Amino acid sequence: MPQTPPSPPADADARRAIAPVICYPVDTLPAPDPTVMAAAREGLVKRAEVLVPPREARCFRVAAGQVFRITSVEGPQVGDLNLWNAADLSERFYSGKTRALHGTHVTTGDRLWSSFPALRPMATIVADTLEWYGIDEFGGSVHDVIGTRCDPYTHNLLSGGQYHHCCHSNLTRALTDETGLPLAKAEGHVHDVLNVFMCTGFTRDTGQYFMKASPVRPGDHIDFLAEIDLLGALSACPGGDCGAEHSSDTAPCHPLLVEVFDCAATPGHTPPPVNGYDRSHGR
Ligand SMILES: [Zn+2]
Repeated sequence: MPQTPPSPPADADARRAIAPVICYPVDTLPAPDPTVMAAAREGLVKRAEVLVPPREARCFRVAAGQVFRITSVEGPQVGDLNLWNAADLSERFYSGKTRALHGTHVTTGDRLWSSFPALRPMATIVADTLEWYGIDEFGGSVHDVIGTRCDPYTHNLLSGGQYHHCCHSNLTRALTDETGLPLAKAEGHVHDVLNVFMCTGFTRDTGQYFMKASPVRPGDHIDFLAEIDLLGALSACPGGDCGAEHSSDTAPCHPLLVEVFDCAATPGHTPPPVNGYDRSHGR
């Protein structure tokens, strides 16, 4: 027998009418230096590039103070980005805390924060040609930190079968190829991503995670200043522009270009210190 939902209390409307407060006001958050931000947009000298093939991932390395750019080439394409401290894979991008601090989607001036105990900026977004998009009528926006990454486990759970080119597997293979770690070890380092160029949100009526065709077009790019020495991995998602489906070979897919630049205007860059909490946890 279907359960009847509990009836609302007499003061339900009053309780719902309480105004929200921002969990983490960011006025005390260490902000990027505007001089460094401006400098990271000019005098860029290209040092390396990696073309990420469709439905595959590739690793790249960026030194602190260098800028890396992810560009859509050939056609609309979404990318799944992982970042690690190049000297210590246990310090990695923390999508959940970045979301708690900056919101569900990131753009110019926002920072990508690392995992505990370091909790420091790994990279700062210094340019984003899709910044104009804002938040659309469905509540959608671009470059989200709400999705996790497409993966073969959820695919198997929902649809069965063995699909090997989800971003999770692409990132795992790329990290194995770069580091020599066995697949099972590399897989443990793959983490929740920044969904570059992906247009997503939550439905207003059911609160479900949605995606829609990305507004990205060839030539659009997002630029990051590396705050620490980084190992990055980018997957060109099998969902293509993620307008229909992922975790299959159905969607048209395109490569993504990663370029690494020296930033002539910022000769020295001091990595931010690790977090100041003493880690005694009250004992
Ligand atoms: Zn994907």
